[in-house]
Amino acid sequence: MQQHHNALGLATAPGNSARGIALDRRPVAPVTLIRPHAAARAARFFVEKFPGRSMYAVKANPSPDLLQILWDSGVTHYDVASLNEVRLVRRTLPQATLCFMHPVKAEEAIAQAYFEHGVKTFSLDSIEELDKIVRATRNASDLTLCVRLRVSSEHSKLSLASKFGVAPGESKELLFRARQVADALGICFHVGSQAMTPQAYADAMERVRQAIVEAAVTVDVVDVGGGFPSTYPGMEPPPLELYFETIHRAFESLPISYSAELWAEPGRALCAEYSSIIVRVEKRRGEELYINDGAYGALFDAAHIDWRFPVSLLREPDSHAKDMPFSFYGPTCDDLDYMKGPFMLPADIRAGDYLEIGMLGAYGSAMRTAFNGFGSDETVIVEDEPMASLYVAADREVASNVVKL
Ligand SMILES: *Cc1c(COP(=O)(O)O)cnc(C)c1O
Repeated sequence: MQQHHNALGLATAPGNSARGIALDRRPVAPVTLIRPHAAARAARFFVEKFPGRSMYAVKANPSPDLLQILWDSGVTHYDVASLNEVRLVRRTLPQATLCFMHPVKAEEAIAQAYFEHGVKTFSLDSIEELDKIVRATRNASDLTLCVRLRVSSEHSKLSLASKFGVAPGESKELLFRARQVADALGICFHVGSQAMTPQAYADAMERVRQAIVEAAVTVDVVDVGGGFPSTYPGMEPPPLELYFETIHRAFESLPISYSAELWAEPGRALCAEYSSIIVRVEKRRGEELYINDGAYGALFDAAHIDWRFPVSLLREPDSHAKDMPFSFYGPTCDDLDYMKGPFMLPADIRAGDYLEIGMLGAYGSAMRTAFNGFGSDETVIVEDEPMASLYVAADREVASNVVKL
């Protein structure tokens, strides 16, 4: 196969596909596949259809090649949570606007972000953090301060409700004090990751309304955070347009000035379709497959929160056996390296077979380690479609087929 390297040093060849990579190369280590066209499509969707500003939550997948694709597709603002993320985005995208949206920051990190990297937007959920920001920026008068409200995660697969956010009834003083030092005052929240219904945002916006009314402050920014879903087996959400409509309607009815801005911080929804991996089955024991990536690789969520990712067998000729449920063991010598699934695959699967595990662009590659000497950095660009998509009508059907298995 003809091989090239693109500007980022990644291997690329015209017409590359998951099947082609697995069957032509028979790779010994896992291979990460990336799909720039899928990330660009997701970014354009948010840029064009979200009724406000979409900033990318960098923690979902911090790879510079992805940051560049999002930038090229119109995403100009980036939600960062650590000084290293600030530096990474600044280095990769010198023109980008960075917003430091972690409500508990090191004072030194705030100072460096502000004075060395031009970061002017910060989130907070306590008076202590407000004081910290004021000290670290030496009473700066050009800050956008976003007060993080605690909202319910009941509609989401992954809760973000206990750690951060000011509780109902306690936001009044913080909003009032932040208003006094902020150039622009914002309210933000996070409904939890993979929110399965737009109602999650409607409920949270009701909390925003109560907080504004109680504090009687002028609010310049309403930031609905992340939580926008992607599609996985057994977790097929309604179309994103419905989320956008719900948010738009709620935003329009808030008691805020008509010049107020609406922001969102999508992570998962922008990058889930960006990457997948090819793994090899090294052993089969009944309904358990021993594969060469796992909990310490790109499959942390599959192991620790029983997330189900779409899987497919890459074999020539195709198997005609009926699908059955499998669980996976990863390659390390650790019982925890186990992924319950169920992962539906043809019943005749055997050692030496290759699998594609899809939708790993969000919180997959970001969590990889080299524990026990396993894992691999090999990354290849492919041009075939992701295993499921929220952004292509035809792929919605593919996604629902995945779900029905
Ligand atoms: C993790 C996180 C996000 C992204 O969440 P997704 O569910 O991936 O969209 C956005 N904002 C904040 C503050 C976060 O912590």
